[in-house]
Amino acid sequence: MIAFQSKLPQTGTNIFTVMSALAQQAGAINLSQGFPDFDCPPELIKLTNQAMQQGHNQYAPMAGVLPLREAIAAKTQELYGATYHPENEITITAGGTQAIFTAICATIHPNDEVIIFEPAYDCYAPAIQLMGGVVKRLELEPPDYRINWNMVRRLVSSRTKMIILNSPHNPTGTVLQEEDIRELINLTHKTDILILSDEVYEHIIFDGQPHRSMARYPELAERSLIVASFGKLFHITGWKIGYCMAPVWLMNEFRKIHQFNVFSVNTPMQFALAKFMQVKEAYLELSDFYQQKRDFFRAGLESSRFKLLPCAGSYFQSVNYSTITNENDVDFAKQLIRENGVAAIPNSAFYNKKTDFGILRFCFAKKQETLAKALEQLLKA
Ligand code: GLN
Repeated sequence: MIAFQSKLPQTGTNIFTVMSALAQQAGAINLSQGFPDFDCPPELIKLTNQAMQQGHNQYAPMAGVLPLREAIAAKTQELYGATYHPENEITITAGGTQAIFTAICATIHPNDEVIIFEPAYDCYAPAIQLMGGVVKRLELEPPDYRINWNMVRRLVSSRTKMIILNSPHNPTGTVLQEEDIRELINLTHKTDILILSDEVYEHIIFDGQPHRSMARYPELAERSLIVASFGKLFHITGWKIGYCMAPVWLMNEFRKIHQFNVFSVNTPMQFALAKFMQVKEAYLELSDFYQQKRDFFRAGLESSRFKLLPCAGSYFQSVNYSTITNENDVDFAKQLIRENGVAAIPNSAFYNKKTDFGILRFCFAKKQETLAKALEQLLKA
């Protein structure tokens, strides 16, 4: 026998993989893992083919192809009034998850404390633990999942190195409000606390609310690593391309890790994205596009026994099922696959203690007919 100690002994296969596999086995409609069931704009594929035919098939520069970094800088300047230099403050990554992992790897030393808010996306805590960091969790509660900043202050210590934020939020669909930003500015003022801001759903935000990117607030931007994703933006989650923005001193550290982790990201896609981003509607119309889907899905569920939670952004709708059963959320999610042919994510998966409020998350990034069919089956629950 070879003696071996796991680096993540408590970790199994992640919930998205598990639920997607169960959905597939059962032939259920998969509203669990977050990805669109419709294709990306054909123009994007054409541009990628073109880039390949033009011979853009070797390594991209380590930080990403310059035209793409320039396009990102221009968008960030225009939308958030912030200057990020394409040369040294923006890096193209192999998706949001890699950017998050690299950001944590580049900044967290053993025993550094990192504050996260639960329900939390599943990749934050393992990355912190792998670096020897200590995860400090604050559990948020439905239906509004507001951050109690007094509780955050109590979690802060001299070892606090980072706070991880995610707005619009996966899984709850909440978005940071102006007062959250004020609290965050006060809390971090004159400290060395960094912010890792997961903003992958920045362009999926509803009812005319602005996206409060850390980039908008100089006091926060100066200590923030901001992570974004083209997968969510252009319906290409399988391309695994995103990016990270940070002030130059932080980006230097980020790149030290990035170069040994992935080195660089798929070249032809980057050229295609750089061109495609010139059409601003492609991302500016995304909120309207998904708001229609959100409204359709919510309207359909009104007459079901599920209780809708608010959804201000992201492509996830949470529901409370306590009028149907008091089963735990994992069992109920499995039952829903078996008996109603619809897969969802049990929200306890986003809590370390598996805190179960009887809530499921549905992904509504789906064709109209998929949502209609799912609703028909959910009404029978
Ligand atoms: N972000 C997707 C979700 O929340 C999952 C991505 C993944 O499977 N790692 O469903």
